[in-house]
Amino acid sequence: MSVALGVRDPALLARIERFVRADVVLVSSDFDGVLSPLVDDPGMSAGDAGSLAALHALTQLPNTHVAVVSGRSLADLEGFMAPVGAIHLVGSHGAEFDDSFKRPVIDGITATQRKVLAELSAKLGVVGTEFAGALVERKPGGVTFHYRMVAESLQSQAAELARRAGDSYSHQVQMTEGKLVVEYSVTGADKGQALEVLRHFVGAHSVLFMGDDVTDEYGFGVLTDADVSVKVGGGDTKAKYRVGNVANVTSLLRAVLVARTRAVSQSPAMEG
Ligand SMILES: [Mg+2]
Repeated sequence: MSVALGVRDPALLARIERFVRADVVLVSSDFDGVLSPLVDDPGMSAGDAGSLAALHALTQLPNTHVAVVSGRSLADLEGFMAPVGAIHLVGSHGAEFDDSFKRPVIDGITATQRKVLAELSAKLGVVGTEFAGALVERKPGGVTFHYRMVAESLQSQAAELARRAGDSYSHQVQMTEGKLVVEYSVTGADKGQALEVLRHFVGAHSVLFMGDDVTDEYGFGVLTDADVSVKVGGGDTKAKYRVGNVANVTSLLRAVLVARTRAVSQSPAMEG
């Protein structure tokens, strides 16, 4: 039976066959550009129905955990992922874990950090007024300047000004550049730390993580040979495997679902 539709890398498919045989697994992914196609207006994103269905089906299998780790705020992510079911959600690059973790959201950002964020947001807002289409998004632990909708000829200038807006806060904020975004965070959280928390929380023996952007490299960076790292699209990466696009992700998740279903049915020890 062919379950590899759209995912043609035989090495990746062979790796998936080994991954699904681990006792406890975590299937995790970024949201934008992986589970949902990138769109101009970040408010208009929608998860791919096939990928979301495969993730929900995976949560129904024994010892099989699923998490979505995004740079978006947790509230934003919950909206796009609804109904969330048994999928764990982590927002703001790991600064916000959903209620299933019984941890405080944002482990205490200080009054000073709040002030820095307010000032920086105001500065980015001023930059935004100079470029039609620019968006400034406040998050609980950070602020993101989106310039995807700015005219292409002005994008590098907009990005430069957004970078410079953070100059006087370089000791208080962490800046990361993604696909047509400049992001600032006061929490120091990253997706690598988030994956480590998730791995520990669910007791995973093997972690699969998929991502498409610069911030996902922190996630790939904490994965070992026991894990599976998948970069979506082009660009330099620490990931061991690569697929082309969001449709390939759906095919890959379906392959994981079929293989894991078979693996757990063949292993009486994994029931429950
Ligand atoms: Mg992404």
